Amino acid sequence: MANKKTIKIENMSNENIYEMQQNILSSYEKADKKRPLSVLVKICKGYYTKLIISAIFCVLQLSVMLVMPIVTANAIDAITMGGENALKKIIINLSIAIFLIIINYPMQRLYMTSRNDVTRSIELGLRGAIINKLQSLTIQFNKENAAGKINSKIMRDVESVRSLIMSLHTNLIHIVVNITTIISVIVVKGNLSVLIFFIACAPIMLVISKRFKKDIREKNREYRKNVEIVNSKVFDMVNLIPVTKAHALEDYEIERMSNYLGDNAKAGYRIDDVNGKFHVSSWLLMQAFRLLCLIFTVFMALNGRLTVGDITLYQNYFTTFLSYVSQILNMIPTITAGTEAINSMGEILASKDVEENAGKIEMDKVRGEFIFSDVRFGYRDGTRDIINGLNLTINPGETIALVGESGAGKSTIINFVTGFYLCDSGKITIDGIDIKDLNLKSYRKNIAVVPQSSILFSGTMRENITYGLKDVSEEKLNEIIELACLTDVVADLPNGVDTLIGERGTKLSGGQQQRVAIARALIRNPKVIIFDEATSALDTVSEKHIQQAIDNLSKDKTTFIVAHRLSTVKNADKIAVIKDGQCVEFGTYNELVEKKGEFYKFRQLQL
Ligand code: ATP
Repeated sequence: MANKKTIKIENMSNENIYEMQQNILSSYEKADKKRPLSVLVKICKGYYTKLIISAIFCVLQLSVMLVMPIVTANAIDAITMGGENALKKIIINLSIAIFLIIINYPMQRLYMTSRNDVTRSIELGLRGAIINKLQSLTIQFNKENAAGKINSKIMRDVESVRSLIMSLHTNLIHIVVNITTIISVIVVKGNLSVLIFFIACAPIMLVISKRFKKDIREKNREYRKNVEIVNSKVFDMVNLIPVTKAHALEDYEIERMSNYLGDNAKAGYRIDDVNGKFHVSSWLLMQAFRLLCLIFTVFMALNGRLTVGDITLYQNYFTTFLSYVSQILNMIPTITAGTEAINSMGEILASKDVEENAGKIEMDKVRGEFIFSDVRFGYRDGTRDIINGLNLTINPGETIALVGESGAGKSTIINFVTGFYLCDSGKITIDGIDIKDLNLKSYRKNIAVVPQSSILFSGTMRENITYGLKDVSEEKLNEIIELACLTDVVADLPNGVDTLIGERGTKLSGGQQQRVAIARALIRNPKVIIFDEATSALDTVSEKHIQQAIDNLSKDKTTFIVAHRLSTVKNADKIAVIKDGQCVEFGTYNELVEKKGEFYKFRQLQL
């Protein structure tokens, strides 16, 4: 396996990228989550060597700036003091300066390319790590966190972390190298009083930073949360556009969004304001110190303790020294935004809401027997139990229809079958194994779901049907297309199955989208199929076709059908009538009609 440390981002394969994501994920696990900088250090693990090499290039490119004041001071002293070696001294000093200027460009390039390679790699790794983690989190987590909020974490927060790494790497090298050089030159020149003057100024600058730090942190947090809200509202708004337009609510929507955007702009303004005050205060203080330094060095020169060249040298150095002290201060907003972003990413990366499958029973083959025994369940954000003592037995290969009023708990039961939710008490077994002991990932390879609202992604019809499957033969695909009653639809598409069907399948009708979702389920040849009101968007003709496909395919497979239209459940082996989270009637269509109970009443309403 290739060593990821040596691979440049441009040459990374998907395998390298995946490996890098896993590394970042495992480094993150080991970090002290309460300390964002410790998290940052762990995230950068594996890139230390590259960061050090890049730091060396950075120091080399910096050397010109450090040596220039010395060259200037030496030249001035050579001119003002004269002497027979003056010209030689000037030529040597200028030659050094020219040499450093010449090597500056390649050093800067090497420094920047190596640093950018590392930061872009970390950015890529972090985004992938968040996506990896998201895939392992429970359905509840995904339901509770709006898509826009998650998007903001993946895009904006990771970008802030990249900026933080760049800023820390660049600035820390500059600060350490410059301050060390300045102090060394002063010490070598023996001007300790100048050194004391320099060092005495630094704490005063730091006091300023303390004064603003808390405010900057709070404003950053407020802004970050606000961006997440706006992001999710924009997502909602885009989804709602057809509803908005259909009800002529454009003005209402614009006003509603304007409120959110207004709040966001105000939160952004508050950050700018506090950052602005902070920058102005530190700049003013810096200028005052520069003036003080000039007075101090001029005074020392008048007393013969410094040369004219020294005044220029220290004036230059003091400006550099202060600009780096101020740079430490200016890093505060970036550090605060970056640490806030690390905390924000942690809401996903450190989440414990993970579906635990490790060490559980693998289920490669499913027979399809389901037994619900006195199952009780309430949603964690709900106020009451939704399933109240459900008892139900489904034999392998049976088709069972769940019917009942809206809100009775049918979809919740389906969520138990998929393992998205686990019951609070009672027991659900699949082929005799408690679902809580099952490796759900292995089990789910044997099931297929056609959800209430079909979820199609932007891509071709083929990609949507074969989602996640490799090497599906044309023959198989055509067979499924026929079974899902899509043959005519495909024939009408300009490029057949390879026609782009647009984001969320908008180029297809509701019924056609539903059939694509059915085809996607059928092609997996599952042992358990779930149709969660899958025929709800179909016309009577299509419904008949689909019904035939369902009947054909449900042979030898345990099939769950949630249906409001009772015509869809006629052929089911058993019908379970769900009321208030319980199965109140159970039997065949005819048995339940004869019973003249809940199902009968239901049927009468639909006649
Ligand atoms: P429908 O036929 O309308 O789809 P259903 O019988 O499938 O309804 P469920 O979706 O299972 O009903 O919902 C049962 C109850 O659980 C409803 O009262 C619903 O409000 C509630 N519920 C569903 N999902 C959640 C959730 N994530 N958090 C809290 N309550 C929920």
